[in-house]
Amino acid sequence: MSSLDWAPLKSIIDNNQSFLISSHVRPDADALGSELGMAAILRHFGKQVTIVNATAPPANLQFLNSDQQVLKLNEDVKQADLPAVDVYIVVDTSAWQQLGAMAEVIQSAGPKRVVIDHHVSSDNMGATEFKDTTAAATGELIFEAAEYLGVEFDSVTASALYAAIATDTGWFRFPSTSANTMRIGAALMELGASPHELFNYLNEQRSLARVRLGGRVLGRIETSEDGRLAWIYADAVDLKETGAVPSDTESLVNECLTIAGSEAAFIAVQQPSGQVKVSLRCRPPHNVAAVAEQFNGGGHKLASGATVGGPVEEAVRCMKKAFLKMLE
Ligand code: AMP
Repeated sequence: MSSLDWAPLKSIIDNNQSFLISSHVRPDADALGSELGMAAILRHFGKQVTIVNATAPPANLQFLNSDQQVLKLNEDVKQADLPAVDVYIVVDTSAWQQLGAMAEVIQSAGPKRVVIDHHVSSDNMGATEFKDTTAAATGELIFEAAEYLGVEFDSVTASALYAAIATDTGWFRFPSTSANTMRIGAALMELGASPHELFNYLNEQRSLARVRLGGRVLGRIETSEDGRLAWIYADAVDLKETGAVPSDTESLVNECLTIAGSEAAFIAVQQPSGQVKVSLRCRPPHNVAAVAEQFNGGGHKLASGATVGGPVEEAVRCMKKAFLKMLE
């Protein structure tokens, strides 16, 4: 169990009627599952809830949003049409930069803010914070909040939260996985989450383009002389020639860490904007959050991200230098 005191959340829920929930750009399963879990808690108490993110979920996660509850700003709802709400709840990030265009919406609105998160990197968002960096996923914290508040999830929400926790723990195997994580996983199964179906939805519905991109990108993996650092990249030509999209590179960086003797890895992916999204990974005792923070990014000690300027070769060169320094 986290040591968080959920009493302030109860009082915020009791004393307010309308809520807007948001999470980070390129929402992953933990972002979406946590948003849907939080929305279910609030609806249980008869509150009005809107969920809006700056960017849409990737295609492989759309199944979590089958009832289209999670809206995309300026596509499903214009900024001017957003409801004026009593409280803004940010889940699965504490970094303004990670909120994309939602940062401005939340900064310019009323002062009542809540953050529920498990990331190390953090801005002062002027919020009531429920933050536990030892939690394996934000979904784990949402489940604990629900337990405290006496809310039981239906099977659809339980599945979204299972997806949140399973993906953030690499299917319950990363060092962040605790006995409590397993307990929550079991409880979500009892509420109707089906691990094998979720694994299939999340990992076995890939496009041919994605698998081809993986072959191409991993085929030219490079390592430092001592083999402790491995890196890969995907540029616009790779995406065009395989027909893949930037999110198809997700999880490729983890393959780099399967090499014996590897201690750290990164992937640099050119985005349609020309910027380069870098995903950083390492094994203990290293800390890639500190590397990501040098580039205005952040995340966790073992898994972080940053968006840097292009071109890809320059991003790779800068990252390589920063990683080699970390490994010294
Ligand atoms: P990724 O590179 O997308 O695999 O991200 C790894 C982890 O770092 C995730 O938990 C992200 O939420 C977090 N992260 C990625 N980019 C950033 C950023 N610019 N600032 C803070 N956290 C980030």
